[in-house]
Parts: sequence; C-alpha cells; structure tokens
Amino acid sequence: MISFEDKVFVVTGASSGIGEACAVMLRDNGATVVGWDLTETDRARGVDVSNWASVEEAAKAVASEFDHVDGLINCAGVITPNLPAQDVVNEDYEKNFHVNVMGTIHTCKALYPMLSKSSAPAIVNIASQAALVALPWQTAYSASKGGVAAFTRALAIDWAEQGIRVNAICPGFTLTPMAIKQMTPELEAAVSRRVPLGRMFQPEEMASVACFLASPLSSAVTGVVMPVDGGWTAGEPALPM
Ligand code: NAD
Repeated sequence: MISFEDKVFVVTGASSGIGEACAVMLRDNGATVVGWDLTETDRARGVDVSNWASVEEAAKAVASEFDHVDGLINCAGVITPNLPAQDVVNEDYEKNFHVNVMGTIHTCKALYPMLSKSSAPAIVNIASQAALVALPWQTAYSASKGGVAAFTRALAIDWAEQGIRVNAICPGFTLTPMAIKQMTPELEAAVSRRVPLGRMFQPEEMASVACFLASPLSSAVTGVVMPVDGGWTAGEPALPM
C-alpha cells in the first residue's frame, strides 16, 4: 500500500532491532536508505548520534550524495541496567540522555536543511511506553524517553511551517537484542500477562507503524506520540467478571 519510490531516508540504529526492520521495510518499498549506527554494518555507516561532530559529518556526506532527504527515523537508543533510582550512577543517567535525547536532537538539527528541501518531509522518533507510564527501575530511560516525546511535540509545532511532520511511536516490549538481553522466562510470562493483547511484539510490527507515520498515508498527522504496545498504556487486561 505504501510506496517510497524515489524517496531518500536516514534511519538511525539501522544495524539492529527496530531500526533494522525500518530500514528493510523502507528499502523493500522502494526507498533509498542511509543507515547510521554506532555499529557499522552493511546496513549502516558508523555514526555516534550522541556526538554532534559525528552526526554533522554524516549529514554532510548525505548532502554530498542527495539533493534532499524525505524522511528521518530515529531508532538509535540505549537502556541501562534495571536499578532503583538511588542506585543508578550519574553516568547511566547521562548516557540515556546523551544517546536517546541528544541523539534525536542532533540528527533532526543536522538533517533540517535536507529535510526542508523535500516535498513531503517526515520525522519519526522512537520513544517508548516508558515515556507514558512508569517502568519500575528505569528512571533514567523513562526520563530520557519522556524527553523524546516532549521534543517530538515541540518540534512538530516549530517545523510545521516548513511542512516537516514530526511524530513518535512508543513501542511496548519488542523482541530485539535490547529487550532480549533483559528477558527471563518469568519476565516474559509476566509481561505477556500484563499486555492486553497478551504477547510481546516483533520489530516489524513497530516498523510498519513508523513507516505509516513517515508516509503520505499520514499526511494530516503531526505532533502525535503514539503507543504501539498492545494496549499496555491503555490499562490492565480485562478481569473475568
Ligand atoms: P537494539 O539494541 O536492537 O538497537 C539499537 C541500535 O541503536 C543498535 O544497533 C545500537 O548500536 C544503536 N545505537 C546505540 N547507541 C548509539 C549511538 N550512540 N549512535 C548510533 N547508534 C547507536 O534495540 P531496539 O529495541 O531495536 O531499540 C530501538 C529503539 O526502540 C530504541 O530507541 C529503544 O529505546 C526503543 N524501544 C525499544 C523497545 C523494545 O522493547 N525493544 C521498547 C520501547 C522502545
């Protein structure tokens, strides 16, 4: 249903998980995709989104290859160990903010001139359900993802004049290396019980919503922070009454 023929996209975090799924889906539907990731792979150039100089250099390379950029999907992200707030070291608070918040800000700023030249530019940021409801022992990650959500809304207003749509998705538990690292069979069972749809998700189920928000099918949508979490943030699963 969605064609990205002749469209140029930058996807961060493209070497793994949700970013990789976004890059594959965009390519399969006709887009030219430039992947950026800390881990260089055949899908992504080596870029540290938390570092302005690295992002600026990568954006210059994109500007030397293309006239414009039609879309940016910000998937690069980190999560630090599960700990109660008082035990989280400052370095972990900073890491979440440097990558998740500043990384998103850096890529949007650096690609702004290229996005402004597109006829239908769109940015999709990957926040988290942790931006909307508390996740226990994840204060640093939650605060950073709240920042991504607030930045998304504020940027949507700022750049509406230039026609740049800016939206975010808030994934629930998605089976990527980031989530699998933290999973135990007990946690998996507990999460599945807590999710109204009763399961965890595949990266492609996040990518399809991100691609929708990056496509003309959502041309009237901007400033939205959309849960894609099987109903986790809507509430508890129904009780047998
Ligand atoms: P992942 O670990 O599979 O992928 C994250 C990618 O980001 C990796 O390839 C990593 O190398 C890259 N990255 C990390 N730091 C970077 C940096 N400084 N510069 C460039 N690239 C960097 O994890 P994922 O689950 O696919 O995560 C993608 C996004 O989705 C993240 O923002 C994450 O917070 C968010 N998210 C994931 C889940 C989940 O359950 N998997 C839930 C909610 C939100």
